[in-house]
Amino acid sequence: MGATDEFDDVRIFDTTLRDGEQSPRTSFSYEEKREIAATLSEMGVAVIEAGFPVNSDAEFEAVSDIAAATDVTTCGLARVVDGDVDAALDAGVDMVHTFASTSDVQLEDSMHATREEVVERSVAAVERAKDAGVDVMFSPMDATRTDGAFLIEVIEAVSDAGVDWINIPDTCGVATPRRFGDLIETVTAHTDARIDVHTHDDFGLAAGNALTGVEAGASQMQVSVNGIGERAGNAALEEVVMAAESLYDADTGVDTTRITELSRLVEQASDMPVPANKPVVGDNAFSHESGIHAAGVIENSDTFEPGVMTPEMVGAERQLVLGKHTGTHSVRQRLTEDGYAPTDDEVRAVTRRVKDHGADSRVTMEDVRRFAEEVGVDTEDEHEPEATL
Ligand code: MN
Repeated sequence: MGATDEFDDVRIFDTTLRDGEQSPRTSFSYEEKREIAATLSEMGVAVIEAGFPVNSDAEFEAVSDIAAATDVTTCGLARVVDGDVDAALDAGVDMVHTFASTSDVQLEDSMHATREEVVERSVAAVERAKDAGVDVMFSPMDATRTDGAFLIEVIEAVSDAGVDWINIPDTCGVATPRRFGDLIETVTAHTDARIDVHTHDDFGLAAGNALTGVEAGASQMQVSVNGIGERAGNAALEEVVMAAESLYDADTGVDTTRITELSRLVEQASDMPVPANKPVVGDNAFSHESGIHAAGVIENSDTFEPGVMTPEMVGAERQLVLGKHTGTHSVRQRLTEDGYAPTDDEVRAVTRRVKDHGADSRVTMEDVRRFAEEVGVDTEDEHEPEATL
């Protein structure tokens, strides 16, 4: 496994507590925010976007608290409005993330401002935050639906104002990998600021677009745990971190062995169940049922897993699930682990019962033990070779 040549490292900017909490019907308690932030900080993400301080007193308090309690760079969101920038600064963040709509549809029907006003206000907000001595990130919201020439005009203006980071948000999830990569290359050519990318999963392309953005020159990806966020959500931390580490052989700085623990924490706090087939953190991510796959995995897990990503790497465990697709190898393994010493015929007999039972219900270890008793499988201590045939 040699290093790949696309990129060597990439920073992770986590927005679980900001865009993630904007998931419909999701609200984190103060304690949940603190615990999520502490875990993310210990795991080594580069930045935590802790919230939108001007939004409410409670949000302001939570952001201040996280800024004070963690070592990680804490970021606060702000519109291009003095009061928003001041609230973020007062909350004690290390980075102010200020944003303005740049697409015509949002300028007309959301922000109600002209292009000229947006440029002027964006420059003013960047200067105000820079004057306070913090890092500043600027987002041209809805960048992927913004007129190309105007996007460059805005980016050059905030770059002249000294912005440190330019985030290119695919706010409505309409980017495709090739187009998004081209956009990042174009933007990179018009600024000295560092680039990060914020992608949404409306078409299931959030992780792919984020990684293409990094291939094209971005140095940071905005993510959320379990991919929660507006509508279909953001690029998932677990997906892009593991893809960067395992497929690109790149360094994210993140302790991947706590990914499963982090996912469970956010699953509970967000009240958004993780689907079983969710990459990396779903219950099925390292589970096998079908006979051929399970037999292969018992011999060598690389046969039917990525190989470059193991359950150990993300703090999970491999599972051999028993059901209608089960083969004898899984049944033998489960019986042996449970203290039985089955003959080949007994394994086949128990497997038949497992498959029949699995056709319309889940097969538990209690079921397997019952089948073993029915078949008359000996346990190891009472096993007398060849006596039961
Ligand atoms: Mn977003």
